[in-house]
Amino acid sequence: MHIKTMIIIKSPREIEHLKRSNAIVAEVFDKLKGMIAPGVTTKELDQVAEEYILSKRGRPAFKGYRGFPATLCISINEEVVHGIPSQRRLKEGDLVSLDVGVNFLGYFGDAAITYPVGEVDAEAKRLLEVTEKALAMGIEKAKVGNRLFDISYAIQSWVESHGFSVVRDFVGHGIGKDLHEEPQIPNFGTPHQGPRLEKGMVFALEPMVNEGTYEVRVLSDGWTVVTADGKRSAHFEHTIAITEDGAEILSVL
Ligand code: MG
Repeated sequence: MHIKTMIIIKSPREIEHLKRSNAIVAEVFDKLKGMIAPGVTTKELDQVAEEYILSKRGRPAFKGYRGFPATLCISINEEVVHGIPSQRRLKEGDLVSLDVGVNFLGYFGDAAITYPVGEVDAEAKRLLEVTEKALAMGIEKAKVGNRLFDISYAIQSWVESHGFSVVRDFVGHGIGKDLHEEPQIPNFGTPHQGPRLEKGMVFALEPMVNEGTYEVRVLSDGWTVVTADGKRSAHFEHTIAITEDGAEILSVL
């Protein structure tokens, strides 16, 4: 894989801006988490998110991005990422991934959480726990002096040691005045490789973890990514800034 090293370093002032856009992202999750229940439509979740972001004078970052039609990406069960909100109702036992992007005064925030709908089976719980922890393991490696693929390797080795797989076709990314900046941050890779991490780098880390094969395909709607074997997938994402003492998570309240 070819990774360019044009990574934009953010000033403390820019990181303050990024904190504001990511705070709105975190507030959206705070509003939506209580709505996750059997019977709610994904469109309803999308509307609440959009209204909230607009009320904060933000803009939904995904809406219109390459023609994506909604504020949230909502992906259920075997859907990995980029699902389109619709009249589909959540049902007991589903895993629903919400991905939120906000542009606030020209700076972007981006995060994702996968929620259980009602009671889910034990394997689903394990998939959520392993994926959320994979993100934490990646964040832990996001520090000055490490290299980019130390993050990738930490995520991959944790996930695979639990018998799950990491998606190859979609990756984390730098973020700032653009939603997707360099570098691409794969959730797999060789440790001690890649660009050196520096203070002021801001990344969206986002492991996508599958129960079965890592292979995925895109549905005929042109957006929804699903697992090739129909097994379930989970997705957790935070926007983080690299500081002198480790990573600071920006997309939290
Ligand atoms: Mg992202």
